[in-house]
Amino acid sequence: MDTDVVISGAGPTGLLLGAELALAGVRVRILERQQARHGQSRALTLHPRSIEILELRGIADRFLAQGRTVPGWHFAGLSRRLDFSVLDTRHGYTLFLEQARTEQLLEERARELGAEISYGHEVVSLAQDDNGVDVAGIGPDGDFRLRAAYLVGCDGGRSKVRESAGIRFPGSDGTMSSMLGDFAVADQEAIAAAGRTPLLIAPLSGGLTRIVVTSPERMRVPATEPVTFEEFRATLVELTGTSFGIAEPRWLSRFGNATRLAENYRSGRVFVAGDAAHIHFPAAGQGLNTGLQDAMNLGWKLAAEITGWAPPGLLDTYHAERFPAGQLVTDNTRAQTLLLELTLVPGYQRPVAALRGLLDSLLEIPEVNARLAGLVSALSTSYPAPEGDPLIGARATGRMFGPEGADLVHSGTFAYFGDGAEQVAEGWKDRITVAGTRPENLSELLVRPDGHIAWVRRATDPPDAALREAAITDWAGAAVRR
Ligand SMILES: Cc1cc2nc3c(=O)[nH]c(=O)nc-3n(C[C@H](O)[C@H](O)[C@H](O)COP(=O)(O)OP(=O)(O)OC[C@H]3O[C@@H](n4cnc5c(N)ncnc54)[C@H](O)[C@@H]3O)c2cc1C
Repeated sequence: MDTDVVISGAGPTGLLLGAELALAGVRVRILERQQARHGQSRALTLHPRSIEILELRGIADRFLAQGRTVPGWHFAGLSRRLDFSVLDTRHGYTLFLEQARTEQLLEERARELGAEISYGHEVVSLAQDDNGVDVAGIGPDGDFRLRAAYLVGCDGGRSKVRESAGIRFPGSDGTMSSMLGDFAVADQEAIAAAGRTPLLIAPLSGGLTRIVVTSPERMRVPATEPVTFEEFRATLVELTGTSFGIAEPRWLSRFGNATRLAENYRSGRVFVAGDAAHIHFPAAGQGLNTGLQDAMNLGWKLAAEITGWAPPGLLDTYHAERFPAGQLVTDNTRAQTLLLELTLVPGYQRPVAALRGLLDSLLEIPEVNARLAGLVSALSTSYPAPEGDPLIGARATGRMFGPEGADLVHSGTFAYFGDGAEQVAEGWKDRITVAGTRPENLSELLVRPDGHIAWVRRATDPPDAALREAAITDWAGAAVRR
């Protein structure tokens, strides 16, 4: 083998996955088609669960230092914003951080841990057998071949890995598109005076201004068609009466609402993650965030398999857990996009305004806010558990963890809290960090490396060493016998 894992694509998903694998001591090579980072940012948001997983690895501060927080985010562009501050987390906000910076920080992290990143290397085909995957590509010195135990396609919506592995990508084609422009010059007074317009405007670093516009006249233009400066300017004037003084476009792009979800996130020794597994309209800013959760879920499982302690079936839980999460995102963005699309269809303005008003009033109900905020922030993501306590599969919250809880999994191990410390330390010392504290309101708690709950024992249930061993073995593999 040339390496344990090849990752195709050094976007946010591939970079976090590479870091997670390297953290576990796995040899990983990330191949990136581009010659260098282009510096453009599609995404601008990191939602609460993303901050939490970065905190689990002790690196959240790096990201927080470079962005600014806002109390929540929108859903379907409704006037009333989602309030994340009511959620059960230390990070009840959205971090406004440009994707280029997120990628830069993730790349630094991956390199620090020893992941090898090769720019200018495009993956073009793969062939897998029972023992590994042969990856073929084109690099700066011509064709190359690599053999690895596993290959992960983090190569975006048009994933070559997904296609070559024969993973189907069913869904719906786009029916509408929006235009995006980053401008070096914009009349800030006009922007401030604009108030509520059919636009999304955001200040970017370097004095740039991002404007996103969806126009009834241009919304049926296919997302693949390039945007011209004149088209953008004319659309602004048509919709708002002003061009906002835009000049010196740094990036113009069109994006649409094609929505697709990989039928299987795994095909033998090949996996897909991030946009390679799911595409949708960027409503409520969830794509990058979802990719980070995919990476966090897959990293430790793949590392466990390579290191040799994975219990049977562990790798299959990646699809079982992340596919439903992908379904939630593709469904909620479909719903949000429909509302946006209908707003723009002639004849629908009045009824859609009435519907928006109704939804805004519903968002005033705390439970409705909590439900949608939990969905968009990904804090309510709970992985399917066949039986047992309903907490199993949910994320471990800071309250359960105690103040130092998140620190325990910095090194990517499981964390165990409770009465069986001696048994756990003896049997799984290499995989489980044993806490000195007890979890709040529980007798025992086993937290997975990705921060989700593997097993709990309630205070009302009697201790049972055999049950504990069975539960731990299910996720962390067999105990080491000496
Ligand atoms: C306008 C817009 C706004 C958005 N805003 C948000 C937001 O606010 N919040 C949010 O969470 N999400 C947002 N998104 C979505 C977000 O940008 C994506 O979900 C995210 O970039 C996906 O990350 P990824 O690493 O999975 O894929 P990508 O970022 O697409 O990275 C894939 C990488 O693979 C490389 N690659 C492709 N093919 C190959 C190959 N054959 N060999 C080697 N390398 C290859 C590419 O060059 C690329 O670097 C937005 C999207 C758009 C269009």
